[in-house]
Amino acid sequence: MKINLIQCESCKGLISSAAVNIHDKQIKPGIQARVWDCNHCKHEHFIMVMDKTSRRMMQENKKDRQKIGNINKRAQMLKGENQLTEEQAMKNLSQVEKIQARIDKRTKELDEHSQRLANEYQEALR
Ligand SMILES: [Zn+2]
Repeated sequence: MKINLIQCESCKGLISSAAVNIHDKQIKPGIQARVWDCNHCKHEHFIMVMDKTSRRMMQENKKDRQKIGNINKRAQMLKGENQLTEEQAMKNLSQVEKIQARIDKRTKELDEHSQRLANEYQEALR
């Protein structure tokens, strides 16, 4: 197994990614910051801020990825039984592309949203 090491910006100590203590802390009602604390100096490292909207978008992305997974699984099964017609394969492809485009668009919106939340959070810390 490959072990990734993360370096603390504050004490320069190395922590294995498996041992990193990532946790969410409440900033405001409904808004959490995801952070990790250095195992050596306890310095708090900021990862991201999440609110209700970000959690909903992440949930929707997860559902859409499951949909793609199901389409592929079904196609594999039909293929194994030699039942996958070219027409069905094309239909699957266009469905997967449509869902993937939706995920990409939502991920971009989520990134922008997270960036806004992070800016607000870091503003407030000053
Ligand atoms: Zn440290």
